[in-house]
Amino acid sequence: MIKVSGLSKSFGKQAVLQQISFEVPRGDVLALIGPSGAGKSTLLRCLNLLETSDTGLLRVGDLNIDCSQRVPSKTLQQLRQATAMVFQNYNLFKNKTALDNIALPLITAKGFSSTEARERAFQLLERVDLTKQASQYPATLSGGQQQRVGIARALALDPEVILFDEPTSSLDPERVAEVLSVIKSLAHRDITMIISTHEISFARQVANQILFMADGQIIERGQAKAVLDDASHERTRRFLQQLT
Ligand code: ADP
Ligand code: MG
Repeated sequence: MIKVSGLSKSFGKQAVLQQISFEVPRGDVLALIGPSGAGKSTLLRCLNLLETSDTGLLRVGDLNIDCSQRVPSKTLQQLRQATAMVFQNYNLFKNKTALDNIALPLITAKGFSSTEARERAFQLLERVDLTKQASQYPATLSGGQQQRVGIARALALDPEVILFDEPTSSLDPERVAEVLSVIKSLAHRDITMIISTHEISFARQVANQILFMADGQIIERGQAKAVLDDASHERTRRFLQQLT
């Protein structure tokens, strides 16, 4: 479903991603782990072209993108429809209700009528157990509820891929579980997911693959259980020890 080949990205003189290559089969869940500053967010942003990388080839479903070339706007639009992103800080529209946060992309990107969009948005709120909060504004929701709205919004466009950038790291500890359980419920579907996370026990439950990166490079990638229980690289082992 996703194939990344030789992706590199610098900010000025700093090489933030160096020759990143990996694949994620359709329906798989890849957990992206690594210390802060490793390049996890930049990698996720490069995958849906919120950030342009300097070189590299990217395949998402049927779309082939050469990152060193200008991407045609039609391809960009198709890529954005196929991939949704869930952000650490939710990125909800503050002046829109929970329902309208989800309905809006359906109107703008899918051309739904307002009534259709709100019906569909309500169904999506059901999936994240938030129908009672439909008419509340983000400021009146807990962090966990806001992030569940963020996930419902990501689901709205029926993406083939969802990219999660540390979806629980802004949450109070007691709110983490409710968000992780929503994400887990998606993992049984046909959606391909890449999740950057520090929640190792969650990664163990949900991920098929683990990719450990540091300093813009892939240090290790493999089956989740193999990497978590018996990492090949000393650096991976040290990182995992710190977290547990
Ligand atoms: P992670 O998500 O793993 O913590 P990031 O992808 O956010 O790592 O950052 C990787 C490196 O790239 C960091 O050193 C960060 O300071 C740098 N960086 C990220 N975004 C920018 C930017 N827009 N401009 C300059 N440097 C950036
Ligand atoms: Mg980050």
